[in-house]
Amino acid sequence: MKRGRKGAAPAPSTELPTCVLPLVTCPCCRVRRIVRLVSKSEQNPSRVFYKCPNNRIGTGGCKFFCWEDGEDSYLDYLSSIGMMIPSTYLGGEIEEEEQKEELHEEQKVELKMQKQQQLKMENSEIKLLLEKMDALVVICRMALCAFVVFVALLLYVLAQK
Ligand SMILES: [Zn+2]
Repeated sequence: MKRGRKGAAPAPSTELPTCVLPLVTCPCCRVRRIVRLVSKSEQNPSRVFYKCPNNRIGTGGCKFFCWEDGEDSYLDYLSSIGMMIPSTYLGGEIEEEEQKEELHEEQKVELKMQKQQQLKMENSEIKLLLEKMDALVVICRMALCAFVVFVALLLYVLAQK
């Protein structure tokens, strides 16, 4: 699942906001505890990340590293290991998703109603068309009768001569 920056921590600043995600033991070395830090790199300035203290660029060591936001975030890692995430952290996001779901349902119902209305309109159109066809058939019959009478009269007149 994709998580935008919106659902994650508040606007990144050089000062670390109160940490609400539990800091677990590093899954790599299973000795050190994950630390929460702020990136000072040019690519990701002021972006919060989690890593094992044994993780040092260049020297190898532990490979554990997660950004707080974006894909494969620390939050995703915590969910993947079945860690309980404080409801305060997810509250806003879950609400947002529920609202979206509701909106989706409403849209579905609206769409259904629109379809039904369309169907009704189509039905009435067909009825109208059938009525017109009936009228047309009646007119045709009348025309045919008139024609037959006309031909009969013509024959009669011709026979009289
Ligand atoms: Zn480690």
